[in-house]
Amino acid sequence: MENFSDVIIIGGGPCGSYSAWNLVKKSVNVTVLEEHNEIGVPCHCAGHLSINSLKNLGFYPLPGKIVENVFSGAKIYSPSGIELPLRFTAPVTCTVNRSLFDKHIAQLAEKAGAHYCLGTRAEMLITDNGYVKGVVAKRNHKTKFLGKAVLDAEGTASKILRQAGLAPPAKGKFVYGVNAEVENVKDIENDTVEVFLGRKYAPGFYAWIIPKGQGQAKVGLGTKTGNPKMLLQKFMQKHPIASRKLQEAKILREIYHTISLGGPIPETYSNGFITVGDAASQVKPTTGGGVIFGLNCATIAADVVSKAIKNNNTSAQFLSTYQQRFTKLLGFDMKIMLKIRRVLDKMSDEKLDEFVRLCRKLHVENAIKNLEEIDFQGKTLLNALQSPKTIASLAYLLIAYLKQQVKI
Ligand SMILES: Cc1cc2nc3c(=O)[nH]c(=O)nc-3n(C[C@H](O)[C@H](O)[C@H](O)COP(=O)(O)OP(=O)(O)OC[C@H]3O[C@@H](n4cnc5c(N)ncnc54)[C@H](O)[C@@H]3O)c2cc1C
Repeated sequence: MENFSDVIIIGGGPCGSYSAWNLVKKSVNVTVLEEHNEIGVPCHCAGHLSINSLKNLGFYPLPGKIVENVFSGAKIYSPSGIELPLRFTAPVTCTVNRSLFDKHIAQLAEKAGAHYCLGTRAEMLITDNGYVKGVVAKRNHKTKFLGKAVLDAEGTASKILRQAGLAPPAKGKFVYGVNAEVENVKDIENDTVEVFLGRKYAPGFYAWIIPKGQGQAKVGLGTKTGNPKMLLQKFMQKHPIASRKLQEAKILREIYHTISLGGPIPETYSNGFITVGDAASQVKPTTGGGVIFGLNCATIAADVVSKAIKNNNTSAQFLSTYQQRFTKLLGFDMKIMLKIRRVLDKMSDEKLDEFVRLCRKLHVENAIKNLEEIDFQGKTLLNALQSPKTIASLAYLLIAYLKQQVKI
């Protein structure tokens, strides 16, 4: 069997569906292949998103019960449990039900004219004369989906990406994440997200508690080494602060997935092929958040691909403007975040304790209480540098890092 559309999209996650929506709005004919039978299921994500960025994408307020909670505070705990409370003048972030969020974007795309094939796994790219021209996919039997271009939004697995001759995100930069939905959580403030640093429970990343209200929360962590399931149990049962909140909590669901922290892959396009979202590692290296950057890149990808279709030119050279445009948007912030990630990875728990202690002493929270932007962290940092308190705490981070590098 054969099907034809202008563009075949692999993956009905947020980046695939948002690309689809933007393409059909530009009168491009789109088919989305999603391997699961239901959009947004299973959901591996905590769905913690910046309200400002959602507004900039035209997505806020969101309908129905997609938004589960909003936050105007955060507590950061150092490895030994020193608390850095942050309070903002207005809600800065929200947590969304990722299944409903993904469904919402897919519905927008479908209503606008995108065609969805659920339970359909893309297995192999079809090439003709050095150009990607479609996909062999499997539902009950193998089907060819032919098109003028393929947009790959398959997430971190990046299996299809390799077939296009592109280098996948570096495995060495992955952390292994777990997110659990839990109930019967105690001693949490509903408008405050909690972040726990330290190698003992989340080596190479951090752990989180994101309240949903009525004693429910999303609890999770990422880790570079070790078993995330066992680390989650240890975090809930043994962490000196988190265990007081979570010891009696019941896990309702938990799911495991990788997060790529190495920054965007060096090349995201080839003849007739373009990749977006986690597949291209368009993820914040500091926090592992990938939804907002992925959606921003999906807007650019859809614009470039629609122009390629209209100009009848899907060459790598034409599609390369996608890479140039998203690098212009994210490049500076990515560079800064990659540096921050490197510093954090090198810092011992003792140094992190000292850093949090210093931030407390300097009342850094006052310098960032009007914070709105949390995604483009390079620019946020530049703004925050107007405050001597932030300069002092960052200088400390830098000195700690340099000492670690030259071992003095
Ligand atoms: C534990 C954890 C917590 C996280 N928390 C946050 C958070 O709080 N905030 C945030 O911004 N980000 C978070 N992230 C990251 C976020 O989940 C991703 O950045 C985001 O989902 C990327 O969207 P995507 O569309 O690129 O990929 P995905 O959401 O992974 O979607 C890819 C889709 O492609 C489908 N697919 C894959 N291969 C094929 C194939 N061959 N054929 C057909 N379909 C295929 C998959 O089934 C899936 O539906 C978290 C990640 C993890 C692991």
